[in-house]
Formats: sequence, structure tokens, C-alpha cells
Amino acid sequence: MGDTGKAKLLIESHKSPHGHQLKPSLIGILQKAKIVFYIGDILETNLTRAFENLPEMVKKVSMLNQQGLSKFDIREGGGWEGHEHSSHNDSEDNAHKKSEDEHNHEHGDLNDPHIWLDPNNAVVMIKAITRELSAIYPENRSLFKRNALSLISDTETMDKEIKALLMPIKDSPFIVFHDAYQYFETHYNLTAVGSIVLDPTIPTSAKRLRELRQKVASSGVTCIFREPQFSDKLSFVVAEDTAAKLATIDPIGGGLKPGADLYSKLLTRIADGLYACLST
Ligand SMILES: [Zn+2]
Repeated sequence: MGDTGKAKLLIESHKSPHGHQLKPSLIGILQKAKIVFYIGDILETNLTRAFENLPEMVKKVSMLNQQGLSKFDIREGGGWEGHEHSSHNDSEDNAHKKSEDEHNHEHGDLNDPHIWLDPNNAVVMIKAITRELSAIYPENRSLFKRNALSLISDTETMDKEIKALLMPIKDSPFIVFHDAYQYFETHYNLTAVGSIVLDPTIPTSAKRLRELRQKVASSGVTCIFREPQFSDKLSFVVAEDTAAKLATIDPIGGGLKPGADLYSKLLTRIADGLYACLST
């Protein structure tokens, strides 16, 4: 948007969007907004609850609903076993409000919401955001388009750099804290073998932790990646007395300054974190 408008973050970057409670002061800002962009009902569950009380004129745009995205189902099998039931799947109450189509989804058909970690999806999102903003502020259409093209070009450059960086470590097995990286792993052909939690809002069982410790030993996992938004307790339990090192990656760019280069910095920081641990 350049200087033509003000964008406000509803969820601070040091907080996970999973199960996040919106601050009351932000609800006031949300009510005065022209448009709000979010990933989807499955991720920012409390935000979409706040949507129910918003004036009609506040336009709500879900990124997960955009055409042209690569989308994966939420993982359950293989290295990702131990998943009982997702809280994403909604309460009885919410289910009634959903469309027939969504309502008919069986568990397992739910989309993994971490779509932004695939740079091709980011390009789809940039185009969608440009389209929506241009509809609201047609006078700024050409500026939005110019900025979008520049952002897409930066994203493509970053993507090539990350591909080259990660190539030598693509077969090194690792474990992540929560199952956020399916899009990143697939796009860059990486070898993640499991996550400590599937959904951060669901407690991890002792059985799962035991299985993960076995997995660390049996698949030669050298790195377990913690996340700054969550406690390290479980990561320590999994890593204890194994050869695996603890390192950090962050799927939402905590601490990075919001701005036009945030996306490239976010992805590059994940890639650098993976490389630093897995290459040594
Ligand atoms: Zn997540």
C-alpha cells in the first residue's frame, strides 16, 4: 500500500495464532477497518469468532479460500502419528454455522493452514491482496500493482537463494516443534520426520513423546527445532540423552519488523536456521 493506507497487525508476532485471544483494544480497531486479511477459520479461530460481531461493511478475506493455492491436508500418519482429534475441527456450535460443503468434510480432509510457507502460495496471496485492495481503493490501483510486482520479484529471488542454500541438507532428517512446515518441506524437498506436537492447542501425550525419542534414535535425527512462541519443555524432553541438537526456527517471523521485506526475511530466517544446524 506504500503510504496510502495503514495496515495493523491483529496478532503480535511473538504470539502463535493457534488459539490466540484477541485483545479488546484490537477489536475496536477491527470494527473500524475497511478490510481484514486472515488465513482461515481453521487457524485464527478466535479472530473468526470476533468476526461475528463486526459491521457488515468490514470486508473479511480468507487467504485459505483463494484460487490457485497448493494445499495439503493436515497430517496424521507416518511420522506424524498420535493425533487423536483436532480442535480445529470445531465445536458442535460452530459446525451448524458452516456451509454444507465445509460441514461435510470428514476429519482428515482439513487443509493444513500454514500455506504461507510455500513461496508460490505467497505469490497467489500477493495477487489476491492486490485485487481486494484495488477494489476498495481504485485510485491507488497502479501503485498497488507496481508494489505487488516488486514484491513478487523479491519473493522469486529469495526462493532461488533458499533452494540453493538448502540443496546440500535436503536428506538430513529433523524434527520440528509443531506441524507447521509441510509446505516449506515439500517446496524445498526436505526430510522432516515428525513434530513434537501436531496442533499446539492439543496436549502431547507421554506416549507420543516416547515414540518421538525412539524416532530420533532410529532415523538419525540430528536437529530438533524449537519455536520461540512455545515453551521449550517438550523439546528438551525429546532431545534429552540423544545425539540431537536443539535449534530454533520460527514459522511466523516473530520479532521481524513488519514491512515490505518481512516475507523474504521470514523464509530466509527459517532456511538459515535449518542450514546452520543440519549442515554441521
Ligand atoms: Zn501453526
